[in-house]
Amino acid sequence: MKNLVILGAGTAGTMMLNKMHEMLDSAQWQITIVDQFETHYYQPGFLFIPFGIYSRKDVIKPKRDFFPQGVKVVMSEIDRIDREQNRVLLANNVVLSYDVLIVATGAKIAPEEIEGMKEDLWFKQIFDFYTIEGACALADHFRHWEGGKLVLNVAEMPIKCPVAPLEFVFLADWWFTERGIRDRVDIHYVTPLPGAFTKPRASSILGDFLDKKNIRLTSEFNIGRVDNEEKKIVSWDETEVPFDVLVTIPTNMGDAMVERSEMGDEFNFIPTDKHTLQSKVSDNIFVIGDATDLPSSKAGSVAHFQADILTENILSYIEGRPLLASFDGHANCFIESGFGKGILIDFNYDTEPLPGKFPLPGVGPFSLLEETEMNHYGKIMFRWMYWNFLLRGKELPIESHMSMAGKRM
Ligand SMILES: Cc1cc2nc3c(=O)[nH]c(=O)nc-3n(C[C@H](O)[C@H](O)[C@H](O)COP(=O)(O)OP(=O)(O)OC[C@H]3O[C@@H](n4cnc5c(N)ncnc54)[C@H](O)[C@@H]3O)c2cc1C
Repeated sequence: MKNLVILGAGTAGTMMLNKMHEMLDSAQWQITIVDQFETHYYQPGFLFIPFGIYSRKDVIKPKRDFFPQGVKVVMSEIDRIDREQNRVLLANNVVLSYDVLIVATGAKIAPEEIEGMKEDLWFKQIFDFYTIEGACALADHFRHWEGGKLVLNVAEMPIKCPVAPLEFVFLADWWFTERGIRDRVDIHYVTPLPGAFTKPRASSILGDFLDKKNIRLTSEFNIGRVDNEEKKIVSWDETEVPFDVLVTIPTNMGDAMVERSEMGDEFNFIPTDKHTLQSKVSDNIFVIGDATDLPSSKAGSVAHFQADILTENILSYIEGRPLLASFDGHANCFIESGFGKGILIDFNYDTEPLPGKFPLPGVGPFSLLEETEMNHYGKIMFRWMYWNFLLRGKELPIESHMSMAGKRM
């Protein structure tokens, strides 16, 4: 028997498990998946928790519900990868040998990277919404909050789902309007980017949305520290932004296991070929999802497109053929914009988000770079698609490669 080991049973690892289980002969290949937690979190749902739209129970399911029969499941923390000997050392002292390894250990927030962030005001007046704990604590706080300065700060790029912070301020504008206290809430979006978003054309359109919704934008703000006493964030060049509630997207990093395995960059992201998804550290190690150092977005939709490419390339690798499937950086993201509307962007490494219709040219039903109710329904439907299709590795009616059909230059 040969061994395929998958590290991480989040979005990408679970998809790869289902796809490889379909493709590999079980008489020849034993597939093993490792994760530290039994619970799967639907992370895009965290966005809705602070506003009472979802609660904890709406975003969790047992991981094992998505594992096919016949695979080996190990629940343990991963200590490190021993590349010399093609084996993985687990915290429970189990050692797993592999012929092919897929790393899908994702990314997580590291608030401790910023001076003063995780001190007196943490979960009292400073919150994240990238963890279930942060999102739930913020929901509790918002329920009784009577208004003041609400600052959203993105600490540094790259982050998971780079549109989520924008969605947060758009939803805050809607939610405080619904509660009748919008005039008492000063919403301020503070980012290290030169504008609202990473890509110029989308950045200008999304910047206009911020304006229209009376949300202040401070760009090129590189946070140096949080002053807990005076309740302000301070940049490296000593610009100060005061807050009553700070919602932070702290530094995002790959898991410490990557550092212990001596195979990551300064953020513990793994050097990966941007087209084949083969790691640059060993030929028999492949990387998918947020764990990579790729310039594509860190998003579940991206991991989904990558999964098709990676499945093909791993089969080629096993059969000794060249890795011909090529990931183009395709990302497809619904941006919730409040008041029952949303915006859709579709782009890849070479093409920035463009206006038009998606997925059917001229028909849609979704509109690119435009705010529509249909796009909002797309965002809401995504959770159902995630649990029923995406995680189970089933085909969706969207191509892995970005298409120019329906887009206007
Ligand atoms: C607030 C928010 C909103 C988002 N919105 C969207 C959206 O609208 N659309 C979209 O496409 N994406 C969105 N995303 C991003 C999306 O959730 C991630 O990109 C996706 O989950 C990445 O999948 P992954 O498998 O790489 O990582 P994950 O799903 O995070 O899985 C990593 C797994 O590895 C395990 N692991 C890590 N280290 C170890 C270790 N040492 N030992 C054992 N197990 C380990 C973890 O327990 C976890 O189960 C959002 C994310 C957040 C936080």
